[in-house]
Amino acid sequence: MINEDRIRALAGHRGSAVVTSCYLDVDGRSHPRHSDYEAQLDHLVRQGREKAAGFGPEAARSVAADLDRIASWVRSGFDRSRVRGLAFFACSADGFFEVVESPLPVRNGVVVNHTPHVRPLESLLQAYERFAVMLVDRQRVRLFRFELGELTEQTEAFDAVPRSGDQAGHPAQGSRGAAVQRHSDEVAHRHLKNAAEVAFTELQRRPVEHLILGGPHEIVVELEGLLHPWVRDRVVDRLAISATAGPDEVRQAALCVEAAVARRDEAGLVDRLRAAVGAGAGVAGLEPTLAALVERRVELLLVSDGYETEGWRCRSCQYLGPLGRRCPVCANSMDLVDDVVEEAVEEALANKCRVQMVRENADLDVLGRIGAILRF
Ligand SMILES: [Zn+2]
Repeated sequence: MINEDRIRALAGHRGSAVVTSCYLDVDGRSHPRHSDYEAQLDHLVRQGREKAAGFGPEAARSVAADLDRIASWVRSGFDRSRVRGLAFFACSADGFFEVVESPLPVRNGVVVNHTPHVRPLESLLQAYERFAVMLVDRQRVRLFRFELGELTEQTEAFDAVPRSGDQAGHPAQGSRGAAVQRHSDEVAHRHLKNAAEVAFTELQRRPVEHLILGGPHEIVVELEGLLHPWVRDRVVDRLAISATAGPDEVRQAALCVEAAVARRDEAGLVDRLRAAVGAGAGVAGLEPTLAALVERRVELLLVSDGYETEGWRCRSCQYLGPLGRRCPVCANSMDLVDDVVEEAVEEALANKCRVQMVRENADLDVLGRIGAILRF
């Protein structure tokens, strides 16, 4: 399973030889037959061998062994009902071999480098921040959790909540009708109150970052007023969706909300970065950001998704910079790296900095596609 701790541990891996990182899309929807992704795998194996040649004969042997092991892992079979993407990190010379099974598809690619190539995993994790959907009406309450794009209904936590009778067929008539209506409103209110309490317990047990409410407007408003403030603070949107909606409808509606919330949060962080840069508490652009990372001054690293560029890494002192070959810190000869942005992300993750990938944000592009808010 993918989680932040696992990605950080991978980002911090330092071995004696080069690491092979291989991403394979095995999504059953786009690759119905095994042969469909096995052909892609053959192509990646050839690519990996070519890339390894540039690292010398010893590295090439280690990478060839890595690729053989990856290919035999794929051919030995895995559960395709759950797994849509695979990420392999291997270094035969060190006996290092890790497989990450992703419930979301990944983009095919192979990278040979001194460290595991983790940026696609981090990006995947961030694309689906943890959130939940709570649907209510006068009788029902349902809870769905989304994790890494998977929707699971967890209504069982609410099963202890008593259901009120359905009063819809009894329009209020005269004083007796009014009494029935009042009773029905009280029962519905109690139902919502219970639902709010169970939601608090359930979301405290396994917290989510965002909560989306759905149901008839007046019921959602009433529920929101009853939620514990800790839960209410997580509410990002209210949807006019039936409490009996099917999983696909819930999923579509919620993913739209979540994408909008993610763009809004990212824009907020870019605003913070711009203000920090103005106040001398942040840096923007490749060179100053890499310098801040090397000096361990970064609190939050912001990177435009898809930004890649060549650069240099010093294996002696870990310096990262856009220009080589001589290291300005220790004067050793540095290695040219295909993507110094990936190196920066790994460095930040390994040093426990917060990293945020930002999608489609013109303001960050203007700032140089990368920047950091500093600790000091
Ligand atoms: Zn150096």
